[in-house]
Amino acid sequence: MNLCNVNVVKRLMSKYQTGTKKSFGQNFLINPQVPSDIAYESYSYHKSKFPHCQSGVIEIGPGIGSLTNELCCEYDKVVAVEIDKTLIPILAETLSEHENITVVNEDFLKIDLGEFINEHFGSSSVSVCANLPYYITTPIIMKLLEQARKENGQSRLTSITVMVQREVAARLCASEKDGDYGAITASINYYGHAVKLFDVSPDNFLPAPKVTSSVIRIELYDEPVYKTKSEKMLFRVIEGAFAQRRKTMVNSLSSVFSEIPKSRIGEIITGLGFDINIRGERLSIKDFCALADAFCEEINH
Ligand code: SAM
Repeated sequence: MNLCNVNVVKRLMSKYQTGTKKSFGQNFLINPQVPSDIAYESYSYHKSKFPHCQSGVIEIGPGIGSLTNELCCEYDKVVAVEIDKTLIPILAETLSEHENITVVNEDFLKIDLGEFINEHFGSSSVSVCANLPYYITTPIIMKLLEQARKENGQSRLTSITVMVQREVAARLCASEKDGDYGAITASINYYGHAVKLFDVSPDNFLPAPKVTSSVIRIELYDEPVYKTKSEKMLFRVIEGAFAQRRKTMVNSLSSVFSEIPKSRIGEIITGLGFDINIRGERLSIKDFCALADAFCEEINH
């Protein structure tokens, strides 16, 4: 069954008395080349990291299964999480030829990801692959990043290959020299490295979204390249630095760190060699780690 054929999609929807739902961000792929390319990009990276292990992937939002089908052909094990219960019987039909798929009817944002990975994959490293529902792109990526490292510091997610809106992709893949750089970019740079792979125009979806999409891959480090004394402090500093985007870091951080006098925040920033008027979007993850350590020392003394 060609799951990217518009007539097949419509026939399945009608057979199971359902339709595409805007509230769940449903835009189904209708060009078979796109899910094939996304699955290839996900799997080839995963396999390059773990050539001799069983391969596993989590898909968020399988829809009617076009990307899932490709992932099942590449990976040894696929677990797909779909919120829309009306799609579950469709997936049972469209994926019936695969024995390596488990479909879970849950809201991905509500699952305990650590437990979920243990239950389905044991201690193996897994990748994530999805054509993301755009209304929750940021919370999904933040949830994945938080899970990216085990308690003992070892990575258990290998990579995150996702389709997002092109503007969001620019932010996720930005460097501190770009205008698109923000708190989520700095967070990604702590856990790994994001690369943009290719653009996908609106006519590849049913229904067509208003904007162009891009596929990106976040390649997660086994260990962070730059270390910090406290990850909690690091993310507090990153959030604080971008809390008031048009403001200097001194002003933005002082609104978040009310326990430290503003003049002292200025001294910490200049003490690390930064200009007093610097803004958060100029700081690399290495700079943020240094700043977080300085804030730790300040608060603990
Ligand atoms: N993978 C399919 C494709 O590429 O054609 C569908 C992608 S569609 C953009 C997003 C999918 O995510 C939909 O199937 C939608 O129902 C599902 N979804 C939306 N919110 C979700 C959530 N919180 N948890 C799990 N799935 C979700």
